[in-house]
Amino acid sequence: MAINLNRSEAVIREKRLKSIIGYTGTVKDILEKTKSGCLKNRSRSFTQTTNCSSGCAQFYLSTITDAAVVNHAPIGCLSDAVGADVGYKWGQNMRNWEKKSINVINTNMSEETTVFGGRKILKAAIFEAYRRFKPKAIFVTTSCASAIIGDDIDSLVQEAEEEIGIPVVPVFCEGFRSQIWASGFDAAFQALLTRIIKPPVKKRPELVNLINFTASGSEIIKKIFDRLGLVPQFGIPFSSIDEISRMSEAAATISVCGTLGGYFGNALEQKYGVPYVTALQPHGIKGIEDWLRNLGSILNKEKEVEEYISEMQETIKPELSKLREKLKGKRAVVGMGPSFSHNYIRLLEEFGIDVVWGLSWHYDALHDHGGCPSCTLELEKSEKDVNISVNDQQNHELVNILRKYKPDIFIGRHPGQSVWAIKMGIPSIMVGDEYSAFGYEGTIEFGYRILDEITNSNLAKNLSKRITLPYTEWWLEQEEFTFLEREAK
Ligand code: SF4
Repeated sequence: MAINLNRSEAVIREKRLKSIIGYTGTVKDILEKTKSGCLKNRSRSFTQTTNCSSGCAQFYLSTITDAAVVNHAPIGCLSDAVGADVGYKWGQNMRNWEKKSINVINTNMSEETTVFGGRKILKAAIFEAYRRFKPKAIFVTTSCASAIIGDDIDSLVQEAEEEIGIPVVPVFCEGFRSQIWASGFDAAFQALLTRIIKPPVKKRPELVNLINFTASGSEIIKKIFDRLGLVPQFGIPFSSIDEISRMSEAAATISVCGTLGGYFGNALEQKYGVPYVTALQPHGIKGIEDWLRNLGSILNKEKEVEEYISEMQETIKPELSKLREKLKGKRAVVGMGPSFSHNYIRLLEEFGIDVVWGLSWHYDALHDHGGCPSCTLELEKSEKDVNISVNDQQNHELVNILRKYKPDIFIGRHPGQSVWAIKMGIPSIMVGDEYSAFGYEGTIEFGYRILDEITNSNLAKNLSKRITLPYTEWWLEQEEFTFLEREAK
């Protein structure tokens, strides 16, 4: 389905990518169902809390260095701004920048607002954001409350924009719009694509847009790209409105996360002809090689890429085989967003680790380029059929999976999950940094991190002796998918 940039709202993932949040089975089974068009979401009769798409959109846009976000919502909808602020400061620290907080204002919608409408407070908040932060653009994010009462955001932001003279851009990301919180990334990108990115003034054949979260790996990327005669433009976090507005001038777009970058990359290709590189994520050996080879073939850098690959393969060979010897046969459970989860399953299997279960928070049956996710297709090639589930961050399912499989390690990408494994005495790694296991050196480093965790598991063991899980014995004895709707025969 072509991405529609003539509207201010992004089409949600359930409709665009046939995404689901409930499933249990195997890699080969989910792909068979995907390809035959029979994949259906299985709903839950009980759910714990999960994330909402407005958090994703707000976090992502609030890290643009010279923009502001106005969240038109009750104050609780902005509670995850605390995490966004910590992440922003961490990124500033890494760059030796002066520390400042994210530029975010909430309209504090009350009962009265929900009865009489929120135009007045929203307009006041936009003016306040302009006065306080002097931004180059203001993004207005919506909430369930603003959508339910039907505030006409489009017309109001237009009025405000005419008065203050900078882009005031609506971002339609209310939580009830989509069950998939990654839809919030698409909502943020829709705002950038429709209102911030300008047509190219001149094409820059050396420039590559690199869509990521923190750009913590910027030094290694610059080093590799320099060898290829390329220059990365990291985004969207820690870039400016001006830098983002010129992303149409790049020679290609690539991402470290398929779930994150696909919408932006494909839309930029569609609108401005900037090719989007579809590849495995650059984690693990197969990942980095596929990522670089696909980039190289689009930009005619095949020779330089092959030289780099053969040099690095030689460099890491001894360490990699040492690690494989030590990690072979260890058992792991993985729990991450869909692209990270299926890419990390591959990475762990490259070390000879047996992944006994892979959870992903949702699953996109398609990607915006039209095919199935390449990371899942890559797993399908293996003789082994990995057990997987689509879990929507449901900790009660995770806890019973961990109890059942008793892995040597749990690898997660969200602190709200990894902590449960540790409480159960299972060593755990929280991959908060998207450049963990990036490329050759990162893969080796990550292998040693796993080895350290497995060989020194005292923290997890000691914690588990002192912690009582909040789940009852009744639940702990249940089959892990008791609350998941049965599959139709
Ligand atoms: S789901 Fe709705 S009410 Fe809850 S945080 Fe998200 S936008 Fe706010």
